[in-house]
Amino acid sequence: MCGILGYLGCRDSAPIVQKGLKKLNYRGYDSWGFGFKNNGKIEIIKEVGDFEKVENIKNNGGNCAVSHSRWATTGKVSKENAHPHATENNEIVIVHNGIIENFQELKKELLKNGHKFKSETDTEIIGHLIEENFKGDFPDAVRKSFLQLKGRNAIVALHNNFDGLVGVKKGSPLIVGIKNNSKREEYFISSDSRAFTDETNKVIFLEDNELVVLK
Ligand code: GLU
Repeated sequence: MCGILGYLGCRDSAPIVQKGLKKLNYRGYDSWGFGFKNNGKIEIIKEVGDFEKVENIKNNGGNCAVSHSRWATTGKVSKENAHPHATENNEIVIVHNGIIENFQELKKELLKNGHKFKSETDTEIIGHLIEENFKGDFPDAVRKSFLQLKGRNAIVALHNNFDGLVGVKKGSPLIVGIKNNSKREEYFISSDSRAFTDETNKVIFLEDNELVVLK
């Protein structure tokens, strides 16, 4: 169980999560990844190994991003298994901490319904479950899907056509940071408030089964 950091605000999001995720390095990780809005699409960069050496990631007009440092629990250490995990065309993008105890059963059902998977992870099923449950309301589809998961889990989800982030947790931490002044409001969401303490110390600790929609 390693690190999650998401950002939503008025600044370009990729450099912010790249800087913040480094603060979680003390926890260790085997692979890493970023998912961020860039010119109206979600772009994903992920890799095995050390992200300290990665050049500065930039995005243009993308105010929303998620990032993840992984300790593999389900599926080997590989680029395909690194987070974020996405559905086709990066429509729904997920970062996740924890272990989905019933993922084999859920994956079997999803395979029957024609879903295709690129990784061995438990995490990848979440985006596909959201796709199944989606009836036009993204936060509601995340809520329904999360209730199907067994185990201790925290997720942050992005959708190409939803201007915001959705986070929910049970048995694994998720903390919201709020930075505001008279002109603007920015939000952080992380498994560990260290990721954003140089930006704000105004925090909300989510309770188990509490879902947050940052817009
Ligand atoms: N179970 C997930 C995986 O193996 C999440 C691991 C984590 O918490 O870093 O990818």
